[in-house]
Amino acid sequence: MIKQRVKQALLGSGLLRLAGKLRPQGAAILMYHSVLEDPGRVRDSLGAMIHSRSVFAGQMELIARQFSPVSLEKVAAFVRGEGVLPERAVVITFDDGYLDNFEMAMPILNRLGISATFYVIVDCVENRRLPWPSRLRFSFRTSTKKSWSDDGGQTWNLSTSARREAAYLAVCDQAAKLSGHQLEQRVCGIESQLDAELPESSGQGMMTWQQVGALVRHGHIVGSHTMTHPNLAFLRLEDARTELVESKQRMEAQLQMKVVHFSYPCPALFPNWTEQTTDESRRAGYETAVTTSAGLAHRGDNPLALKRVRPTKSVDGLRWNLESAFAGRLA
Ligand SMILES: [Zn+2]
Repeated sequence: MIKQRVKQALLGSGLLRLAGKLRPQGAAILMYHSVLEDPGRVRDSLGAMIHSRSVFAGQMELIARQFSPVSLEKVAAFVRGEGVLPERAVVITFDDGYLDNFEMAMPILNRLGISATFYVIVDCVENRRLPWPSRLRFSFRTSTKKSWSDDGGQTWNLSTSARREAAYLAVCDQAAKLSGHQLEQRVCGIESQLDAELPESSGQGMMTWQQVGALVRHGHIVGSHTMTHPNLAFLRLEDARTELVESKQRMEAQLQMKVVHFSYPCPALFPNWTEQTTDESRRAGYETAVTTSAGLAHRGDNPLALKRVRPTKSVDGLRWNLESAFAGRLA
């Protein structure tokens, strides 16, 4: 961990910026999820993946001022060897399809002229429900039960928040290997065993198809984040194929447009993509896919396995992350 003072001195000296000029050109694809006025309000369901609106606005202003915001399409062309990128190119992406992407993030992006990419979980949009990891997090955090037994006969003590978290993470590892109806059944079963189910209205925290369409009309890109948010690398090939193909077809039918961009879900377990899943995503007709592996996108990279950079929860932290990434080291 580099001390804050040293980071500030390095940023101020311009050394990192100079180092970036000596590196092969690349683009930083940032991965966001949710932007809310008051992130604490939904911490039991969404966890720590929310940016406050003021921090997000500050981060976008930083990118507009000191970096070069570009669209995913532009980076896709650059990776393929077509076209050029401005120096210090940054792409903004959002995973999952939360309503706040439309209500909170889009106005800020539009004001600054930034074209972002939004990947939606088709089942969550169609059935108005939060992604399953959020539903399970809520169940494990708020259940009044003191213990819970899983399908394998193991009993989990839920007496402290640390133990609840351990049970939740273990369940996520099991559920991430399921998809479609099986996954939904498993999640519903756990919700009822724990007697802690998110109210149906929580599904209104997801975008509708109309709102997804409005993102496109405002110049943003939309892509698929699967049907049901499994870990594709741990599914049977035919189930992974269904998630890739069906989500694409459903989006295309709803939005009346081609959908060629994809984001691999990372609900639990590692890795969340393999050579086989990248081949399948290409076969399904996708032109790009983003992962949760850390790094920049470079010319000649596999466009179906693009790396991303995680934005920290502060403006200075993001500045450090981006400068470090462009200088060739990821903090
Ligand atoms: Zn996701």
